[in-house]
Amino acid sequence: MTIEHEVAEILKQIALNEEIKAYVLQHPSLYQPLLHAARRFIGGETLIECVETARSLNQQGFAVTIDYMGESTRDSDIAQQATQEFLRVIDAIATQNLDSSISLDLSHIGLVIDPELAYQNACILAEAAESAGLEMMISMEGVDRTSLILEIHQRLCKTFNNVGITLQAYLHRTADDLEAVLQRPGKIRLVKGAYVAPTEVAKPRGAELDESYRQLMERLLTSRHPCSIATHDPALLDPLPLEHAHRLIQDQKLAQSSIEFEMLKGVAQERLAAMRNQGYRTRVYLPYGQEWHLYLCNRLAEYPPNIYQAIVDAAKLNFVSS
Ligand SMILES: Cc1cc2nc3c(=O)[nH]c(=O)nc-3n(C[C@H](O)[C@H](O)[C@H](O)COP(=O)(O)OP(=O)(O)OC[C@H]3O[C@@H](n4cnc5c(N)ncnc54)[C@H](O)[C@@H]3O)c2cc1C
Repeated sequence: MTIEHEVAEILKQIALNEEIKAYVLQHPSLYQPLLHAARRFIGGETLIECVETARSLNQQGFAVTIDYMGESTRDSDIAQQATQEFLRVIDAIATQNLDSSISLDLSHIGLVIDPELAYQNACILAEAAESAGLEMMISMEGVDRTSLILEIHQRLCKTFNNVGITLQAYLHRTADDLEAVLQRPGKIRLVKGAYVAPTEVAKPRGAELDESYRQLMERLLTSRHPCSIATHDPALLDPLPLEHAHRLIQDQKLAQSSIEFEMLKGVAQERLAAMRNQGYRTRVYLPYGQEWHLYLCNRLAEYPPNIYQAIVDAAKLNFVSS
């Protein structure tokens, strides 16, 4: 195991450790600098802050998708509160005229408590989003939830045309899942996959996964289904020279209006800007809220060099002049 892998594993454990999280929350001397480091990756702690960040990204030519951060809610009151907050997000996007969709984890609005609760809450949100002319993207979670999430997406698609779904290239099952969701309306977002998963069901990071992503991306792009290519991988996206996606789109004269490139806020934004400058539709995934501890650890774990940036960001708050 390389030192980067070891650091990544430790960070993933820190991310999930409730005691460490509680300690951070109780100690402003830790909370404030870590929040400062997290701000690179999030839209803020409140919806008001997030709307301002969204507006600024829109002005730079990026669409956004706003996610009120949270997952694996085990208390139905919290699932209902999250649903209400997402309604406020939809209202803010509509009234502030933002170029934004919403993104959510079904487990934030009740999946772990009762799949029917998640479905009912998702219906409320899909309907509100539809009335406001917005798209609602469903994120994909750990492998134990994949089938359930796809089932709920299928049910939602019987009533709504504005509900998209995320597929993870690292799962062996995804080629089949892709064929199924291509039959449904709604955008398909292709990601590599962020959750820990055993090799029986998923490919580890590396050449085999990258090849899988390329094949699925080809299938998705050439299907002409509305899609989001959601990766920061320069081998797949780098426009200088423009590699796979761009070549394919040009060769096959695919309509650019149904394709977008999407990246996480604070990650490889110069690559997204390069795609925007090539005339592609681009979108920034913009999470906000107080559950940033897990999100920050995951961003550092998936790319350990980000730790240096996080240290600089955190330190600038207190004792380093910029
Ligand atoms: C819009 C969007 C939505 C997503 N939704 C989901 C979801 O619903 N479920 C899910 O499991 N995962 C989701 N992910 C996360 C995804 O699965 C990957 O974990 C993440 O995008 C990193 O993979 P990558 O494709 O960028 O490739 P990687 O192989 O991880 O990275 C390729 C290269 O991209 C750059 N890079 C990658 N990550 C970083 C970083 N944090 N900081 C700086 N540079 C970086 C580096 O140059 C790296 O070498 C989402 C990602 C995006 C962009």
